[in-house]
Amino acid sequence: MRSKLPNLGMSIFSKMTGLANQYGAINLSQGFPEFDTPEFLKRRLADYVQQGVNQYAPSAGIAPLQQQISALVKRRYQANINADDMVTVTSGATEALFVAIQSITRSGDEIIVFDPAYDSYKPAIELAGGKAVHVALSAPGYMIDWAEVKRLINDKTRAIIINTPHNPSAKTLKLADLTSLKKLVIQHDLYVISDEVYEHITFDEQPHLSVLRDPELFERSFVVSSFGKTFHCTGWKMGYCIAPSKLTVEFRKLHQYVTFSSFTPAQFALADMLAEEGAHVDSLAQFYQHKRDCLVAALASSRFQVLPSEGTYFLLLDYSQLSELGDVAFCEYLVKEIGIAAIPLSVFYDTPTGDRVIRLCFAKETNTLLAAAEKLCQL
Ligand code: PMP
Ligand code: GLN
Repeated sequence: MRSKLPNLGMSIFSKMTGLANQYGAINLSQGFPEFDTPEFLKRRLADYVQQGVNQYAPSAGIAPLQQQISALVKRRYQANINADDMVTVTSGATEALFVAIQSITRSGDEIIVFDPAYDSYKPAIELAGGKAVHVALSAPGYMIDWAEVKRLINDKTRAIIINTPHNPSAKTLKLADLTSLKKLVIQHDLYVISDEVYEHITFDEQPHLSVLRDPELFERSFVVSSFGKTFHCTGWKMGYCIAPSKLTVEFRKLHQYVTFSSFTPAQFALADMLAEEGAHVDSLAQFYQHKRDCLVAALASSRFQVLPSEGTYFLLLDYSQLSELGDVAFCEYLVKEIGIAAIPLSVFYDTPTGDRVIRLCFAKETNTLLAAAEKLCQL
């Protein structure tokens, strides 16, 4: 069979988690929390299933959840979003990204992505007949040179994908970045796909600079988020897309033929969670900051150079003082010989930079983080 994605193999997350299980290593590779979903949410889900709320939801999502999402972004970002024609509930952020990309990309269109880039963007662009145009960012700052972005824009450019807080670099976009982005997308009439799945995990009192805060930028944007990150339920695959109504019309045309609708009982349970347990969202940044600080402190005596983590639940380590190995080989060595599974940064690049950097996930219990740090400090 002629593959539509000939250069793609198994995702790095599946590969590293597989190796972690095979070698009994501490798994700090694939990003998922070790701790459980809040009791309230689990109970509500079980209740709705038990009560027989088990048939198709409306394609765009149930109204109470759309309304709670709208209330959430009003509270957090002072954004006025119509629940019924701007919010679509999806089966994870992955579906929302896929549908947003498909709905704007025509054959031959170019979409600008920043490397290191989350792994689902490029296949979605290529399946839509588009081409990903890569802008490589380098350790330790991962700063965007907006003049370079401008140089890459041409008649075929259709959109720019941003991700803040950023997986895997753990950097956040600053106001100056959003100002530069806005200038470019208005000047060249481009769309923005803004992956904000870690929106509630920003550190050191930094507010999350959502595209939703800026009406002019939002006017041409699809803003994507995930309940998996916010409520420690990555396995539920529940997310959403917020877009202006004109864009939402197109988004929903595709969404209805990708999944039609998303898991009904979870939609009701998540609506209740947002309505009654809003404090969970507001305490998430502090919760993860504590974990970041715990891991950073435990690695202080290691020979790794710890890069700053401004958000997400990831921490980057530069290992160039420890080894000459490339990062894929270094991660294989770590998982097989040291008992730590991590993610090599090069897999997030079209053209790797040669940086010797790995990513650790710190959404783990303190004991797990300390046990991992102890092993890493022995290197
Ligand atoms: N975007 C980024 C940057 C992510 O890290 C993830 C989760 N790994 C996703 C999208 C996908 O989220 P979901 O699991 O809700 O599909
Ligand atoms: N987003 C998670 C990560 O970055 C993994 C998601 C997946 O396994 N596809 O590790």
